[in-house]
Amino acid sequence: MTGRPQWEDSLFELIRRTSVDLPGDVEEALRRALAREEKDARARWFLEGILANVEHARRTDTPLCQDTGALLFRFHVPVGFDTNALSAATRAAVARATRLGYLRQNTVDSVSGAVYQTNVAHGSPVFCFEQGARDTVDVRLIMKGGGSENMGAQYSLPCADPGAERNLEGVRRCVLDAVTRAQGNGCAPGVVGVCIGGDRASGHEHAKEQFLRRMDDRSRVKALARLEQRILRDATRLGIGPMGMGGIATLLGVKIGALSRLPASFFVTVSYMCWAFRRRGVLLGRNGGVQRWLY
Ligand code: SF4
Repeated sequence: MTGRPQWEDSLFELIRRTSVDLPGDVEEALRRALAREEKDARARWFLEGILANVEHARRTDTPLCQDTGALLFRFHVPVGFDTNALSAATRAAVARATRLGYLRQNTVDSVSGAVYQTNVAHGSPVFCFEQGARDTVDVRLIMKGGGSENMGAQYSLPCADPGAERNLEGVRRCVLDAVTRAQGNGCAPGVVGVCIGGDRASGHEHAKEQFLRRMDDRSRVKALARLEQRILRDATRLGIGPMGMGGIATLLGVKIGALSRLPASFFVTVSYMCWAFRRRGVLLGRNGGVQRWLY
């Protein structure tokens, strides 16, 4: 890896864009949700406010929400790439973005309660690296707010409370149960990322990976694509609506993935993402220069 300053500049720009500029597909989903609400519904007022906030953040180059969230970086790098140097450049970019106000000082020592000034600490930001036969470095960033993270849930099936057996109907019940329990907290309307299977840790990781998918894509697994659409339809009937204040727009999207599992375990993991669905990506060349912005 050569040209460390350029890497840092590109990663800083990725953070800035993610913080202030909601991806077009998410904004479009919010506009569609607004169009579906009835003329005098309170939900319209909330959605109009959210969309005005989105435009304001973009225009004024300021964060979309005061909670700039946990920073989840996912890198696909060429085989043999120096990931230590890449981590160092990313940490430097995070510290710069915090200094310049694109990130809130949002990272707290879990023992002492002290606030880290730079958002660089043990466990922050979160990195995930994958190597492959490629020339570019693909970087994806998700900024996940704490309120939405609190609404995540994991079920071990069979599970008596939502009446979930070890099948796709059981998965549907778990997801709707998690959304119902949230009652709009975590800032609805949002998107749920779901993992069927895996273990307790990989389930959460894979559920969050679903947030890298575009709003308009469909699972390649037909049964999961059907389930995504079914849950999305069912959620409109819950009546929870934006911020839990009633309405049709409880969810903007449902994204479901699956991992293999042990015969003894059947986990359904639900990760909740708020309307401030900050997700951006970039392809960087060997010198760290931007080749293409993603999303
Ligand atoms: S849940 Fe999302 S929209 Fe709500 S305060 Fe947190 S980051 Fe902001």
